[in-house]
Amino acid sequence: MFEYAPAPESRDVVDIRPSYGLFVNGEWVDSPGGEREKTVNPASEEVLAEFTMATDADVDRAVTAARAAYDTVWSRMPGRERAKYLFRIARIIQERARELAVLESLDNGKPIRESRDVDLPLVAAHFFYHAGWADKLEYAGFGPAPRPLGVAAQVIPWNFPLLMLAWKIAPALACGNTVVLKPAETTPLTALAFAEICRQADLPPGVVNIVTGAGATGRALVEHPGVRKVAFTGSTEVGRQIARSVAGTRKKLTLELGGKAANIVYEDAALDQAVEGIVNGIFFNQGHVCCAGSRLLVQESIEGELLDALKRRLATLRLGDPLDKNTDIGAINSAAQLAKIRELSEAGEQEGAERWSPSCPIPDKGYWFPPTLFTGVAQSHRIAREEIFGPVLSVLTFRTPAEAVEKANNTPFGLSAGVWTEKGSRILWTADRLRAGVVWANTFNRFDPTSPFGGYRESGYGREGGRHGLEAYLDV
Ligand code: NAD
Ligand code: MG
Repeated sequence: MFEYAPAPESRDVVDIRPSYGLFVNGEWVDSPGGEREKTVNPASEEVLAEFTMATDADVDRAVTAARAAYDTVWSRMPGRERAKYLFRIARIIQERARELAVLESLDNGKPIRESRDVDLPLVAAHFFYHAGWADKLEYAGFGPAPRPLGVAAQVIPWNFPLLMLAWKIAPALACGNTVVLKPAETTPLTALAFAEICRQADLPPGVVNIVTGAGATGRALVEHPGVRKVAFTGSTEVGRQIARSVAGTRKKLTLELGGKAANIVYEDAALDQAVEGIVNGIFFNQGHVCCAGSRLLVQESIEGELLDALKRRLATLRLGDPLDKNTDIGAINSAAQLAKIRELSEAGEQEGAERWSPSCPIPDKGYWFPPTLFTGVAQSHRIAREEIFGPVLSVLTFRTPAEAVEKANNTPFGLSAGVWTEKGSRILWTADRLRAGVVWANTFNRFDPTSPFGGYRESGYGREGGRHGLEAYLDV
């Protein structure tokens, strides 16, 4: 392996305030009763800033502001005018992309290469794409004059903080809704930076409101009676609670929850490409990806060859400083997530699977987990059934295509899957039978704002992105 000189991205481009209030009605406001929490850089445990834990009263203030903006301004504005704001936001995101990428990597721990080359371009693309829809909704296939819903309550996780914000806010605004969004408690900073971008774009006050906090704030938001639409991305457990609390109300709900995706490699697949796809599938973003290819299903005849190539490739991955442009694997987002990954990996060993990691120096400070491979995994093992949400791959084998499909579908989840083969007919045969919202063929983790994304069964319901994603924000 080549030794690379460190190539750190400068953090001087970001300006982090010591303390943040809430963004309500276009202003920064302090919470009268809210406590303060700290967000840290998971790569160093350094405190980055303090933020507010919004109370029920703060949430109420934000929903009231969003409702007023909906009634008086945003729902009345012609689509072509709303489009201009979305377009302006997209342009500002592009102009400030470097700053936002550094901020995301600092607060989340993901490598700068990913925040810079994947997250930020997609964030801008989501706003551009939905700017295009804002004045064309009558052609989207939901009737001649589709109406917005009202105030959207949006709760997002920590794995793609700004990208999940874009997935939520861009379609909501394009369709004429106003929003109150709550970022995750370990990664509030890019959402707070986005509040500044709304001001920079002269977005009318109250159209976007950002309330920070943890589960209690999220619950107060989704349960608020002034909300007409709830959009949640996160764990299946919290998704279930939200589904219960929304049942019987007039609120429309979309849930994007966990996954345990199968990545199926047939014996005729191009092996080097498949290896890259496997690595991208599970080690991208430290495996903190709901659609991660966490179960590798490899045809028995090529298991040895594939695993040798995969291990060689994993030995070249560089783990370390997320701001270094050479880094492939960054920090685990929080101590709690690290504990969960460790616990499940230990369970994997105890249940009899064989654990392997390349030799990989781990920094002294911060939260880290080496890329890890389990072979000899049985379908009954916890590491084959439960979402680990970390850089851990479980390898299973199969002999026939029918067995591959049966094993792939043997999960309560249904978010995504991958198929690797040279044969087009086999791709179609397999994809037809996989019960997953997204099936990638000879690629993995490929995203585009024009393409709907979502799952079924315990992975949730509703679609985000594309024409289909508009439906969740329209009264149809
Ligand atoms: P979580 O579901 O607890 O948190 C997601 C968001 O929901 C956060 O903003 C959180 O503050 C908020 N929240 C928590 N409780 C709430 C409640 N009762 N009502 C409303 N909002 C609430 O997820 P987590 O604890 O951060 O992660 C736990 C596991 O969830 C992970 O290990 C992973 O398996 C899964 N996860 C999935 C995704 C995904 O993209 N599908 C993202 C993050 C985490
Ligand atoms: Mg943080």
